[in-house]
Amino acid sequence: MPDSNLVTGNSYLVTNIMEYDVVVIGSGPGGYVAAIRCAQLGMKTALIEKYSTLGGTCLNVGCIPSKALLDSSEHYYNATHTFKEHGIDVKDVKVNLKQMIDRKAGVVKQTCDGINYLMKKK
Ligand SMILES: Cc1cc2nc3c(=O)[nH]c(=O)nc-3n(C[C@H](O)[C@H](O)[C@H](O)COP(=O)(O)OP(=O)(O)OC[C@H]3O[C@@H](n4cnc5c(N)ncnc54)[C@H](O)[C@@H]3O)c2cc1C
Repeated sequence: MPDSNLVTGNSYLVTNIMEYDVVVIGSGPGGYVAAIRCAQLGMKTALIEKYSTLGGTCLNVGCIPSKALLDSSEHYYNATHTFKEHGIDVKDVKVNLKQMIDRKAGVVKQTCDGINYLMKKK
């Protein structure tokens, strides 16, 4: 379709219509990998995401944050269950939930930023 401004009967305004060879909806692992591959193959590719960050379920609320929290909980488990056997005495081990969640948010941000970087790469 050529560049144009359209107003439909439903008052839906569309400006600057662009042409793409491929449009991928959803920036999860399925979507962003498909979009990158299409671009690598020389196709003009658009990736559409309804949320403000790329990466889909996996990066934002699924695999990455759950593994970041599992990592933290494993450290806690080891500090309270296995350190003693190794001759490591620690006292008053406590969970600082805010710090744990902040760290998880940092891991998610780092991973999502990685996808942003890949999307901007020529
Ligand atoms: C808690 C949890 C832990 C998990 N852990 C693992 C794990 O350890 N290992 C593993 O392999 N898998 C794991 N998964 C599964 C993994 O997250 C999914 O298999 C993977 O995200 C699927 O990728 P996808 O691209 O198909 O879909 P998604 O990642 O769900 O991405 C779909 C994207 O499409 C967007 N979208 C949908 N509709 C529209 C629309 N109309 N317009 C614009 N955007 C749209 C969504 O916003 C979303 O960003 C986990 C899932 C959860 C919930």
